[in-house]
Formats: sequence, structure tokens, C-alpha cells
Amino acid sequence: MKPFIYTALPARIVFDAPVVTALRQEIEGLGCRRALLLSTPWQARAISGLADDIGNLAAGVFDQAEMHTPVAVTEAAIRVANEVRADCLVAVGGGSTIGLGKAMALRTDLPQIAVPTTYAGSEVTPIIGQTEAGRKTTQRTLKVLPEVVIYDVDLTLTLPVQLSVTSGMNAVAHAVEALYAQEANPVVTLLAERGITALIRALPLLVQAPSDRNARAEALFGAWACGTCLGAVGMSLHHKLCHVLGGSFALPHSETHTIILPHAAAALLPGVPGAAAILARAMGSDDPAGTLYDIPARLGAAMALREIGMPHDGLRQAAQEVTQSAYWLPVEMPQARVLSLLEEAWHGRRPQAVCV
Ligand code: NAD
Repeated sequence: MKPFIYTALPARIVFDAPVVTALRQEIEGLGCRRALLLSTPWQARAISGLADDIGNLAAGVFDQAEMHTPVAVTEAAIRVANEVRADCLVAVGGGSTIGLGKAMALRTDLPQIAVPTTYAGSEVTPIIGQTEAGRKTTQRTLKVLPEVVIYDVDLTLTLPVQLSVTSGMNAVAHAVEALYAQEANPVVTLLAERGITALIRALPLLVQAPSDRNARAEALFGAWACGTCLGAVGMSLHHKLCHVLGGSFALPHSETHTIILPHAAAALLPGVPGAAAILARAMGSDDPAGTLYDIPARLGAAMALREIGMPHDGLRQAAQEVTQSAYWLPVEMPQARVLSLLEEAWHGRRPQAVCV
């Protein structure tokens, strides 16, 4: 075994607990009494019900979270937190709502309880992306890592099927890139392999039966494992491509991850045979990049950038932005290679087999 460094992040994970009971216990466990509950407008009804259920422990509700964490929304939410004298934050939702909680914690140091309802994994990372004046910036700081995460499988039963598939592939992407990360280590590799297997097994089952609780639990467990990989090690080509496509072309987050992942994997896996072998084992396939395409395609996900609003004449700019930014790459990726990868993804072609 090679020498390695593994930094464990502090996290209290409460897995598959009924949210109302767990929330009461965890708010009090933090020594708090006045929680501000956060959500998007889409989940406003759900959190107002939750606020009623936890009674006195809910000081207020802010239900205007938005994708990409606009600073103006964070400031509005902080005004509400001050008005209601909140002493902790409870973010109930996907990466957008959890991002709002993180952005507020960054500025106020209020403790956070995250209650994820998608598979994006933000709840277990010290990473925050924010947008201001059309620019998205990302930073890593322990100040934004939620103190407690409550996973309640029942809250994921309402996640629309197509979003479940793409959000699940978003999680798989974190684990795939963890396998060849610069700081890759045996602890994270274990989590990555287990997380990928869980999601690959669960997604077809929950498409067949969206309220299959066992499949949803397996997917949520996979999301925790894959998100933990994202929080523990740096990412590579795939995440850089998605960051540029989301930030500069406003493409939808999990759909973009789903489309790009097989192409990024096909580009890098030949140069990282050890990672390719683990991925192949996790997926039960000797063509892991092809399988990363086949699974979401079979489950009805859009597999072409052109289908989700990417202009063809933007590909060159995207390739340039990716190549000009500094990030870890396990193998060389000249701009022409990035451009041809994007071209394939724009058309939605299945990547060539990388057999292991
Ligand atoms: P999202 O949070 O934007 O959710 C998409 C929509 O689905 C929202 O309207 C939401 O209210 C709704 N929704 C969520 N869960 C639901 C449920 N169970 N039932 C019904 N509706 C539900 O989507 P996302 O993909 O989870 O998050 C994307 C955002 O998260 C992006 O801004 C991305 O950059 C960020 N993100 C950050 C990290 C990180 O580590 N910082 C990691 C992953 C994603």
C-alpha cells in the first residue's frame, strides 16, 4: 500500500430517522431553541408543515432559496434570521437550499442542520459556490460544513423520477472523480466504490417504483457516501467541465453532470488503470465509461448537451475556459481534446468503450 493522508471532516450523520423527532433532538442537542427553516419556493409547503410540527423550536421560515446561491438571496435570508433572532439554521432541500444555509453560516457562524432531499451531496462538503453580478465563485472552508445531517428517506419519495436519476448520477460523478483524485486514499476509495454500487443498483429500481422505500434508502446512502468523497478530496476534469457549463452557460446542474460524466470518464480512465478497475468492479461492467452512459440513457435522462440548452457555438469558449483554469488532471488534456469531448457530449454520442 502507498503512503497516504486522509483528513476526516467533523460530521454527525443521522441516517433514516423521521425528520420531526430527529430535528427536535438535534436542535436541542446543539443547545439551540430558535431555528430558521430554509427551502426553495417549490418546497415551501413542506417546510411550513415541518415548522408547525416542531412547534416552539421553529422561529421562522425563509422559502426563497435559489440555484447557484445568489448573494442577494443570502442577504435577504440573513435579515429574516436577525428579525426572528434565529440561533440555528435548518436547510431542507437539495443543493440549492443547503447552499443558502452554508452561505448564511459563512457570514453569521450560525450552526446548521442539513436535511437533504436530493442526492447532490452538498450537505457533507466544506464547499460553497455563490453568484454575484453573474459570476460564480467557489471556496472551501470548514465554516460552511453543516454540524448535523439528517437523512429522512421519506422526504425523498417526492423527488421527481427524472431528477432522481440525474441527481443520482451527480452523486456518482463525485465518487468517480474521487477514485483518481490527487489526494485519493484507501478510505475515500472504499466509500466511493460502495456509493457507486448503491446508486447504480438503486436508480433503475426507483424509476420502476418511485416510492420503493428500500431503493430510495439505498440511493440516499449512496448519496451520503459519494458526497463524503466530494468533501474529502479535490475533483478533476468532470467537475471543471460542469462548473464552466453551469457557470458560463447556465445549464441545469444535475442534468449537465449526467451528460458529461461518461465522456470525462472515457477521456481519463485509460490513464488511470487502477481507478478504472475499481469503477468497473463497482458497476459490474468491463466498460465502465459506456455503462455510465447506458444507465441514465436507459432511464430516460437527456444525454446530449444540445437537449439542455447548450449553444453549439459556445463549445469553443467552454473548452478554452476549462483549459485555462488550474485544476488537477491525472493525464494531459490539451484544449483540442477537451473540445472534441464537448462535441461528443453535445451530440449525445455514446463514448467509445474503455475496456478494463
Ligand atoms: P436543487 O436543490 O436546485 O433542487 C432542484 C428542485 O427540486 C428544487 O426546486 C427543489 O426544491 C426540488 N426538490 C428537491 N428535493 C425535492 C424532493 N424530495 N421532492 C420534490 N422536490 C424536490 O437541485 P440539486 O441538484 O440538489 O442542487 C443543485 C445546486 O447544488 C447547484 O447550485 C450546485 O452547484 C449545488 N451543489 C453544491 C455542492 C457543494 O458541495 N457545494 C454539491 C452538489 C451540488
